[in-house]
Amino acid sequence: MRTAIISDVHGNLEALTTVLGDIDNRKADRIICLGDILGYGPNPVECVELIAQRCEWSLLGNHDYGALYEPTNFNAAAEQAAYWTRAQFDKEPDGEEAERRWEFLGQLRVRCLFNSFLCVHGSPRRPINEYIFPEDAINSPVKMSQIFDLVDHHCLVGHTHVPGVFTNEPEFYPPTDLGGVYKFNDDERVIVNPGSVGQPRDMDPRASYAILDEDEMSVEFHRLDYDVEAVARKIYAIPELNNWLGDRLLEGR
Ligand code: ZN
Repeated sequence: MRTAIISDVHGNLEALTTVLGDIDNRKADRIICLGDILGYGPNPVECVELIAQRCEWSLLGNHDYGALYEPTNFNAAAEQAAYWTRAQFDKEPDGEEAERRWEFLGQLRVRCLFNSFLCVHGSPRRPINEYIFPEDAINSPVKMSQIFDLVDHHCLVGHTHVPGVFTNEPEFYPPTDLGGVYKFNDDERVIVNPGSVGQPRDMDPRASYAILDEDEMSVEFHRLDYDVEAVARKIYAIPELNNWLGDRLLEGR
């Protein structure tokens, strides 16, 4: 079985459709989403529709939580974007349609077990909000060992928007160090981050996702060009979305 793992779409429709097209070409058997469908980007409603249609399931991310319930620990630009995002769902004139979308968002899970993989948006101990940063592998060994204590075998996370593989050494391997593919070893625990579809933050603006091959027990990372400028232009045209949200897409930070 080949499972496409996407995360952190953040209302970026151009990036999402590009990634879904690539997933179709590579003939993955299913798609799962690790959360943050919403927040920052200009097309939250369209992205929710596509995720609902195309993904087997999605998790709840902190920005989905922010739009659905309330923004927690957000900076001013993110908070304003969350309220704008909520308003896009609220302005749907068809009451049933609006209800269906809110229901989809309301049933998103905080964590789930997918075969040998524990899946969360943030981290196993704080599923919605905790970041597992690449530098934690070097700077925060206690944090990493506490987190790995909660991982029996493998774990899938998003949230940092930085793709790569954490092992319980602890060590972090970006896809460029792995030649794009990581093969799981029997005796290690591993946390995989597929990176962000809609707002990459590893100084590479291309959309990021991964494909998990459970027969080979490997994960391959993919990067895709999409029309970043078009999305930035949409953001610049929406007063409630801070221009910086467009600028950062162009730079991938
Ligand atoms: Zn995110």
